[in-house]
Amino acid sequence: MKSIVYYLPTSKITTNSIRQILIDTRFLPQLVNAKNIGIKVHFGEEGNNNYLEPRYVQMFVNEIKALGKKPTLIETSTLYRGRRQNRDSHIKLAFEHGFTEDNVNATIKILDGARGEAFEETMVNLNYIQKAKIAQKLRDYDAVVNLAHFKGHFVVGFGGVIKNIAMGLSAKGGKLEMHSQTKPYVKTDKCINCETCISTCPADAITISKRSAIIDSNCIGCASCVAICPENAIKINWNESSILTQKKMAEYALAIIRNRIWLHCNFAIRITPNCDCMDRTENPVMPDIGLFISLDPVACDQAVWDRTKDKINKLYPQINPEILLTYCERLGLGTRQYEICEIKK
Ligand code: SF4
Ligand code: SF4
Repeated sequence: MKSIVYYLPTSKITTNSIRQILIDTRFLPQLVNAKNIGIKVHFGEEGNNNYLEPRYVQMFVNEIKALGKKPTLIETSTLYRGRRQNRDSHIKLAFEHGFTEDNVNATIKILDGARGEAFEETMVNLNYIQKAKIAQKLRDYDAVVNLAHFKGHFVVGFGGVIKNIAMGLSAKGGKLEMHSQTKPYVKTDKCINCETCISTCPADAITISKRSAIIDSNCIGCASCVAICPENAIKINWNESSILTQKKMAEYALAIIRNRIWLHCNFAIRITPNCDCMDRTENPVMPDIGLFISLDPVACDQAVWDRTKDKINKLYPQINPEILLTYCERLGLGTRQYEICEIKK
């Protein structure tokens, strides 16, 4: 059976048209008993202006508020170093990018603690992931509106709604597991033996030798130490293959999606070669297309991929992003078969 993907050309993304889609998908009635509703947003890295515009986020916030609910903008810390690596500087940057309560009518919650150290493991027992490390406070949310900015990605080809869930709502250790085959390591010439990392390690895996801190085999790969080291001495091997990163992303997406109510939205606007984690503003590689919305994350990504793959495949000829879509379909996350329903209002 085909999934329905609702489509709005960019010029028709208005409060009224979004309201119409929320009615047509029958998403809003599902929220009646929801205790906490999250709106997953990527606030954009410092120096990058291609992130989703706050006015679009506000449209969704207002429709949910009209139900008498109070949605929260939810996000997690990054694995790489930067302002989005820690909760406080992440929120400050989000404000600088216009995601203030005055602008979007909702507050922000970073779900994985002050430095990305707060996670909980959920058993999945799949081919690549046994226990998924998910942002701890995600457990408070029983419904999520997944707002993704669709763009290219140098590791997995493209980033859409599935990536926004898998990378975006996993904890630091989950991101590490998807991006790397190994645990973090200490770059000895940078370590000053300050011992700061020892107290943050939940596995007692760090000891101090004469020369530097040492990470031993007890390490569970939570990546908490990466953010706390003042010298940036704890490093990550970004060495996972594209194929396995995509498959691990699919398994993480499954772990995160289950037992929640979802609406998935791909904004195919300012489609850049790389994701909004880049600390620079890239030029789009093609004209804007619009907004795609579906209850089915696989159909939602497939619909935009079909309209962007000619361009994105030229950027990353060595990557086959359809591995993600095929594997997600195999895991039962959705279907690649879809029907477009264009809203005419
Ligand atoms: S050493 Fe391993 S377990 Fe300890 S904080 Fe670092 S990544 Fe986590
Ligand atoms: S926090 Fe960094 S500099 Fe300090 S002991 Fe640990 S690895 Fe070395």
